[in-house]
Amino acid sequence: MHELGLARSIVDIAIEAARADGAERIARVGLRVGAFAGVEADALGPAFELARRGTPASDAVLDIEPVPLRCHCAGCDRDFGVDDVHGMALCPTCGAPSGDVLQGMELEVSYIEVVRS
Ligand SMILES: [Zn+2]
Repeated sequence: MHELGLARSIVDIAIEAARADGAERIARVGLRVGAFAGVEADALGPAFELARRGTPASDAVLDIEPVPLRCHCAGCDRDFGVDDVHGMALCPTCGAPSGDVLQGMELEVSYIEVVRS
């Protein structure tokens, strides 16, 4: 399962950051997930619960921040949001397809909250 591997990497990143910070445990991890990142946000929660078991992040909460897909149309020189991430990104003004993605590909840890004891 793709999401489980990803959840394990997130837990690893959080543990490393906590150690570097001299903290014992992780309370919360923020994750920015783009609509076009190729990750099922719904599957990520349960995967994270599995991955955190037996680690210093075993009580950590995963805070997923969804990032909508936005593209740029060079012809119209305007940005537009895309709701259907499974279709093609078509400019609502001229109808041209755009491969110029401004946001929505993100898959990154945005913050880590640690517990000092
Ligand atoms: Zn256009």
